[in-house]
Amino acid sequence: MEITLDPGYIRGILSAEHSAAQQDLQHFGPIEALARSQIRHDERLRSAPGSGTLACRAGCAWCCYFTVDVRAVEVFRILERVEHAFSALQLARLREEVTANAAALRELDDLDRMRRNVKCPFLDEARCTIYEVRPQTCRNYHATSALGCQASYENPYDLDIDPEFAPYVYQAGGAHVDAFTRALKEAGYDTDVYELNAALEAALSDPQARARFEAKDKPFIGLAGRDVPPEFDESD
Ligand code: SF4
Repeated sequence: MEITLDPGYIRGILSAEHSAAQQDLQHFGPIEALARSQIRHDERLRSAPGSGTLACRAGCAWCCYFTVDVRAVEVFRILERVEHAFSALQLARLREEVTANAAALRELDDLDRMRRNVKCPFLDEARCTIYEVRPQTCRNYHATSALGCQASYENPYDLDIDPEFAPYVYQAGGAHVDAFTRALKEAGYDTDVYELNAALEAALSDPQARARFEAKDKPFIGLAGRDVPPEFDESD
């Protein structure tokens, strides 16, 4: 779906979120800064023009079988929540599912990963079990009709299916993430992008991963990330 960008709207979010994220990173460190940014993120999406047209509802989970990309800071925020909220049985199931998913996806290139439906390890009975701390990718994925999401799920090889989305919600979410990521990168933290299951597997199997991230080193030994450029910049 082609959209016309609103440069003033994008610039306003880039500037406001970058400045708020810089302050939070300085005062609270990266994990708490992300927590605070997620509250602003949700509010931006809620107040974006057109947010009332979204079809996304609790119990609708077609998109939770698509590939999810995350940054390390999101993985450690999720695991913090998991350690506090999950039972031993839930944690054991999570480890099992993450290991199986990571193995199934490991040898695939980006294109083949996009063509593979894999149930997210946090999806349980069509509900997200980590909704408050879900990744930025999930927060920004939205549609104005679930039919396109269902069609993508039912035809994973057809990458031309393009669910209808709300242009201002799209711009608000994208600019927000770009601004937070820029502040994180400027502060010296890893901002590479990883496949969700691979990053969870690496973090769950290595108790030092978070300490390396907080020390501004690469957190995951043996797992290469991708440096993904921002979608929006100040000149948009
Ligand atoms: S983290 Fe939650 S919202 Fe994101 S894909 Fe998994 S179940 Fe769905």
